[in-house]
Amino acid sequence: MADTVKTNLDPQLDRRGFLKGCTIAAAALGLSDAMIPKLVEAAATAERPRVIWLHFQECTGCTESLLRSSHPDIGRLILDIISLDYHETVMAAAGHQAEQNLHDTVDNHPFILVVEGAIPTKDNGIYCKIAGKTAMDILAEVAPKASAIIAIGTCATFGGVQAAAPNPTGAVGVMDLVSDKPIINIPGCPPNPISFLGTILHYLTFKRLPALDSLNRPLFAYGRRIHDHCERRAHFDEGRFVEQYGDEFHKLGYCLYKVGCKGPETFSNCPVVRFNDVDVWPVSVGHGCIGCTEPNFWDTMTPFYERLPMVKIPATGIVKKADKVGKTILAATAAGIGIHAAVGIGKSLIKGKKKDEEA
Ligand code: SF4
Ligand code: SF4
Repeated sequence: MADTVKTNLDPQLDRRGFLKGCTIAAAALGLSDAMIPKLVEAAATAERPRVIWLHFQECTGCTESLLRSSHPDIGRLILDIISLDYHETVMAAAGHQAEQNLHDTVDNHPFILVVEGAIPTKDNGIYCKIAGKTAMDILAEVAPKASAIIAIGTCATFGGVQAAAPNPTGAVGVMDLVSDKPIINIPGCPPNPISFLGTILHYLTFKRLPALDSLNRPLFAYGRRIHDHCERRAHFDEGRFVEQYGDEFHKLGYCLYKVGCKGPETFSNCPVVRFNDVDVWPVSVGHGCIGCTEPNFWDTMTPFYERLPMVKIPATGIVKKADKVGKTILAATAAGIGIHAAVGIGKSLIKGKKKDEEA
């Protein structure tokens, strides 16, 4: 039988998986190794915060990505360090019993509200109803009683695909409707479960929420541009670009900027934390970042396979006002990448020529 942690956690969670999950979260939070025992202790012994998880206008992909994470069982660890009192996808209760669970917690206990999905506001919100109530009504009923709100996924944070022009249902994110509560935005389509786990563990360990940027995103997860940590960055700096998917430069692992990568203006820890427990992320397997953690990315980052307009990339470094820099570089018409890319075309051509000459 697997060695188990002597905790209030699920005995099926083996010690190795538990420790590995905490270690990954500590690394994502930027904590030193010395802090890992404190994090482990908090995860194992702290009182589990009650969580109400509401689903509105969405595909349930955020929950799916959280539950389907496999090794080291991040999903199980998350479900074990919180008390999930209401979650329409995974709870056993149904109908009136489920509604009773919701009201019991909301009326009698402190709780964290997690919202997944956008909230349609057009025509009094009739485009999303649960138990006969609109998403707007449910949010208005539950949010004021929450200790804090975590908006998970780009739909709940910024409206997501539902809010893409022409936004037929008037979809918005939580912070467009709720203003007097601490709101933590964890955008992504879907977000990495580690960003959610890190937020909860930070809360359990330090008894406060993590530092946020001005879009309410935790800085530990969204404080740097994708571009800053990308393994293809050296190719970008040297002007070596993929000209089209499947070409020889693509096979060589060159930078994807010219085939549409939005990494230079997207803030997320994807290159560091990676996905699917197999140490890959979209750019590492040959696809550009589409900017899914940024507001209105379905409108501002499309067409996905066309390069960014001419933008100026600030010097690499810790970015505290990530969104502001993003807006600044979007607005800039200075040469920046434009020059880089132009140089890149030249360099690629020169390299191609050299190759030909050497052949
Ligand atoms: S443009 Fe994209 S592929 Fe190229 S270095 Fe930046 S993030 Fe990586
Ligand atoms: S690489 Fe870009 S598009 Fe992909 S998940 Fe990360 S932020 Fe979203």
